[in-house]
Amino acid sequence: MLNRGWIYERTLLIVSAVIGIVLGWVTGHWALSLAICLAVYLAWHMVRLRDLDKWFKRGARPKHAPMLMGAHGDILAHVVKIKKRHNSRRRTMQRMIRLFDTSAQNAPDPTLVVNANKEIIWMNKAARRELGFKKKRDIGVRVHSVWRAPEFSKFVEKAKLGSSDTFESPTQEGYFYDVRISPYFDDGLMLTARDVTQMVLADRTRRDFVSNASHELKTPLTVMMGYLEMLESDRGVDDGLKPLIQSASMQATRMHGLLNDLLSLSRIESSGVDTTETVMVPSMIQGIVDDAKLLPEFDHNIELDIKKDLVIKGGYQDLLSAFSNLVYNAILHTPKTTKITISWQKEDDRPVFSVKDEGKGISEEHLDRITERFYRVEEGRERSDALADRGRGTGLGLAIVKHVIQCHGGQLEISSTLGEGSEFKCLFLKTKM
Ligand code: ADP
Repeated sequence: MLNRGWIYERTLLIVSAVIGIVLGWVTGHWALSLAICLAVYLAWHMVRLRDLDKWFKRGARPKHAPMLMGAHGDILAHVVKIKKRHNSRRRTMQRMIRLFDTSAQNAPDPTLVVNANKEIIWMNKAARRELGFKKKRDIGVRVHSVWRAPEFSKFVEKAKLGSSDTFESPTQEGYFYDVRISPYFDDGLMLTARDVTQMVLADRTRRDFVSNASHELKTPLTVMMGYLEMLESDRGVDDGLKPLIQSASMQATRMHGLLNDLLSLSRIESSGVDTTETVMVPSMIQGIVDDAKLLPEFDHNIELDIKKDLVIKGGYQDLLSAFSNLVYNAILHTPKTTKITISWQKEDDRPVFSVKDEGKGISEEHLDRITERFYRVEEGRERSDALADRGRGTGLGLAIVKHVIQCHGGQLEISSTLGEGSEFKCLFLKTKM
């Protein structure tokens, strides 16, 4: 069905034709009269089209729409309707963008957005206030040029989504921020920083306290151990006192082991590990196995699977302590005569040290926590207590192993099945050696 505009248009055309016919009848010039009338009709069309064109060129604002009748009026009404709908949507979008921008701008944590080239494209008020970023100066600049720290550059370049790390503020010394990376449009990244200064300082204080206390306790303890050793071998000492002296000596040895492990942990935590030496792991493993055979608990069947030419860059002493811990654990926490497989091989181009035993295994609820300081599996506690009398079983062994491997850029993976045994794997970074 035709609508009003088109009915109007059809009527106008018929009226023009009728006028042409009447004029032709009056003048006797049929063709000329008809042509003149149709030309007027066409001219009228052209004028209306020009009005429409002008309106489009001026931005097609609904309130400045020309008054048009007929088909042009209909078309114009459609365009105005669409335009009004579009304007209303645009206003809603703008309101939403303003709302999000205001929320993000006023978010309490400093936030930056960088594009795929790591150039800053957006920052919020907290980033300007707390981290000293400036819109005029820093938008378009690569983020490492503003937050100047080699570790921060590496962190952003690697840009592992969801990863986070702690860095000192680029402007204020002694202030620390935990920076988290989230994905953004077009391969960009969103960096959210959270002030963790109090936590870093508390952690530092705790570490310093543990390290200082361990240092201070070590000297008097060494003196006491010396006296206790003298008393143990002194024939003049009353026989009734001997068990007491022996017990005191065992407790002192236990404390000595604990202090040594605490000092190792705090050294690794605060200064890391020197990873520049070329470590001949195959000969190191042989040495560890030779020493392990001297343990009173040793009566195991050790199987070696060693790639003889596989060496890595690392810290000799720390790797020795980590690998020994795993081998001694396998001996101390598994029944005699069982098999222990020690392997040093490449897996997917990564050097991997693994110790696999056929002991009781560790139940799943303990696996996540077993590398925590002083965490010991309940069934292992009594055994560990007995070992502690010899300076072992401090509950710090796996915490040290994990830290050492992490300082080498690797991971410690533990898998275990109750009743079947456990496997401790140290996976290192791909090596070019
Ligand atoms: P510890 O000095 O007590 O050995 P670790 O940190 O080395 O401390 O180990 C933590 C606990 O993990 C141990 O007390 C023991 O219960 C358990 N554990 C470690 N290695 C093994 C293993 N190979 N088999 C079974 N349990 C183990």
